[in-house]
Amino acid sequence: MPVMRSGVVADGEAVQRFKRATSGGPSTHEFSTTAGTSRRMGKVRQRGTAPELIVRRAVRRIGLHYRLRNRDLPGSPDLANRSRRFAVFVHGCFWHQHLHCPRATVPKRNRGFWVAKFAANRARDDRSVEALRQLGYTVLVVWECETADPDALTAQLTRGLFRHGR
Ligand SMILES: [Zn+2]
Repeated sequence: MPVMRSGVVADGEAVQRFKRATSGGPSTHEFSTTAGTSRRMGKVRQRGTAPELIVRRAVRRIGLHYRLRNRDLPGSPDLANRSRRFAVFVHGCFWHQHLHCPRATVPKRNRGFWVAKFAANRARDDRSVEALRQLGYTVLVVWECETADPDALTAQLTRGLFRHGR
């Protein structure tokens, strides 16, 4: 995912510290929360995660073609089509801190670190979207939690990507 493109080493260290610091927490509840967080962290640098695959399928379903890993475009959108000028980001709710989403938790340990980290992620996301729009792209952000309902997702993509009659 584009979000981890920079500062990978520092992030990896922080995650390891976080895992060491929180493993074997005092209560079952705390332990399960930590395990969930670790799972999400483990996935962050992967491409082709389940939500991304669902979005790809939905975009194909509405008859649009795209390319993956668009490193030459701002923010490296997960899906993009240069001739039709659209770009789609599939954002994990945790890493990109989906507003008002139950998945957008902030780890209690090293809270300051995570708050700063998430703020940087969101600022980078905003810059990428803005830069793409400047290039004439229609930009759509699909949140991980929105991929749970494929029909609603398809409707959202149709609205979003055909918005300008392209
Ligand atoms: Zn969400």
